Amino acid sequence: MLKLPSYLAMRVPLLDLGQQYRVLSKQIREAIDDVLDSHRFILGSKVQEFESAICRYCDVPHAIGVSSGTDALLAILMGLGIGRGDAVMTTPYTFFSTAGCVARVGARSVFADIDPRTYNIAPSAIQEWLEKNCELDSDGARRIKTGEKIRAIIPAHLFGSCCQMDALREISERFQLYLIEDAAQAIGAEFPFGDRAAKAGTIGEVGFFSFYPSKNLGAAGDAGMIVCQDETLASKLRILRNHGMEPRYFHHVVGGNFRLDEMQAAILGVKLPFLESWAAARRAAADFYRAEFTRAGLTDRITLPAEPYRDCGLTNHHVYHQYVVRTPKRDALHEHLVKRQIETAIYYPLGLHEQKCFAYLGYKNGDFPETERAARETLALPIYPEISREAQQYVVNAIVEFFE
Ligand SMILES: *Cc1c(COP(=O)(O)O)cnc(C)c1O
Repeated sequence: MLKLPSYLAMRVPLLDLGQQYRVLSKQIREAIDDVLDSHRFILGSKVQEFESAICRYCDVPHAIGVSSGTDALLAILMGLGIGRGDAVMTTPYTFFSTAGCVARVGARSVFADIDPRTYNIAPSAIQEWLEKNCELDSDGARRIKTGEKIRAIIPAHLFGSCCQMDALREISERFQLYLIEDAAQAIGAEFPFGDRAAKAGTIGEVGFFSFYPSKNLGAAGDAGMIVCQDETLASKLRILRNHGMEPRYFHHVVGGNFRLDEMQAAILGVKLPFLESWAAARRAAADFYRAEFTRAGLTDRITLPAEPYRDCGLTNHHVYHQYVVRTPKRDALHEHLVKRQIETAIYYPLGLHEQKCFAYLGYKNGDFPETERAARETLALPIYPEISREAQQYVVNAIVEFFE
């Protein structure tokens, strides 16, 4: 292990967007100038070009640029006609927007607990809930107690590693549910599907990405993208993102302003070709952490991220949006790292089922033990493509010091 002298204190941020920008600043500024010179600020050629680039990158027939990951999901739920009287199954251990959008269209979130190894929703938990609580008729699955129709499953590929899509696909077909992939943290991530490799977002009827600045592919503001297989759904979503308007000033359905900004599309178009190399760099950083934590004999003190698809022959078996470790001493470790000027984050400190705004759903503490344990024990360590091995070594040394 590289021993750093103690006087060589460092500051290690969780994420540093500056290094990436310095490399690309000329190209990004040129792309912005193109937009300014064209005077086409809304749904112009940059949006179209970026949508086509995403189609090629993900190997999907349709991509619809939208204003954020959250708006992507809102438009999707509207497009699938999910609303009052409907319920949707999703994970309680993710960013707020999943359950937030479900509530905004008037539907109800039904949570299923996570797999403690990957933090992703456990297909077995979904299946058990459906078998116990629903009846299946020609019209689909209905919750016996309330009569609500179960319409969809929304798994989130958390931290850059994909859910068990084989199992989720099977359950969604058996219970006639839409499968909507929240791939906000997992653009480019791959998983084995049958005998082939598939990319995050492309196995469900529909999936979406977020280009929030800190995501693996980040805009200079808010932006998002929907990807889908079905042409009819794609054209419906295209209309929905623009006030349900087609042609101009003729409104067939009530949509919203969910448009991807031309300037953001221009910037994202410059960055997309680098995404694969950034994913590789994130993975190399993760490998370094693993090697050094292992060498330091810490793997029985902190649980390192699972890599369920590591040996499946996929390049992007994980894209390490976050490098999340777990320990029952999480809060003390967090404080120790603050003292060492190492920035960490907690994703997420509270399950969605315990959020005040969802109290009306009727859940209580203890309902999802693995989610609650993860909320108490997980800590995200600094990771980004340009992170230096020295900075990582400093993080590892500080954690070694804590456990000594
Ligand atoms: C970031 C994120 C979103 C929301 O994306 P925005 O673009 O910020 O609206 C949704 N789901 C997950 C899992 C996310 O990480």
